[in-house]
Amino acid sequence: MSVLEILRWPDPRLGLQCAPVGAVTDEVRALASDMLETMYAAPGRGLAAPQVAVLQRLFVMDVAWKDGPRSPEVFVDPEIVDASTELVENDEGCLSIPGVLAGVSRPAWVEMRWHDLDGAPQQRRFDGFAAACAQHELDHLNGTVTLDRVAPAVRATILQAYREVPV
Ligand code: ZN
Repeated sequence: MSVLEILRWPDPRLGLQCAPVGAVTDEVRALASDMLETMYAAPGRGLAAPQVAVLQRLFVMDVAWKDGPRSPEVFVDPEIVDASTELVENDEGCLSIPGVLAGVSRPAWVEMRWHDLDGAPQQRRFDGFAAACAQHELDHLNGTVTLDRVAPAVRATILQAYREVPV
C-alpha cells in the first residue's frame, strides 16, 4: 500500500470524463487499497480515482471514521438509479480544492448501484452526509467539481479565497 499524490484543482485531469472500470482485477484492488490509504492520510472521507490521476470510474468512501471505527467502502462503476426530489445544501470540502468550502445543493438521498471489489453488484440508499459525499465523489468521475455547481458570483468569491491557500 502507498499514499498517492492528490491532484489539486485546476489540474485539467479533474475536468475529464472517466472510463468504466469493467472487470475487477488485482490491479483495481491494489488501486482501491492505495486510494483508501491516501484518503485516511489526507485526511478525508471520500476520494475518487481521477483525484489520484487515474481516469477510471471508481471511488472510495468512509463517512464516519473520524467519529468511530473505520468502515472503508469501494464503489466500482457507480451509478445513481433514483434520487430524492428534495434538495439539501451542504458546505462541501474537497481534497483537490483544499482550504475552502462550497455550498452545494443536491438531492437529500440517492439510491446507488455499483460493483464491489469481488465484482459483485451492490445497491443501497444513502442519506444525509453519505448522500452528499457519494454524489460529490460520483461528480468527480464525470469531471465535475463543487466549483462547477455554485453560482458564478459564489465561485468567484471561493476562488479568491482559494488563491490565498498555501500550496
Ligand atoms: Zn472532491
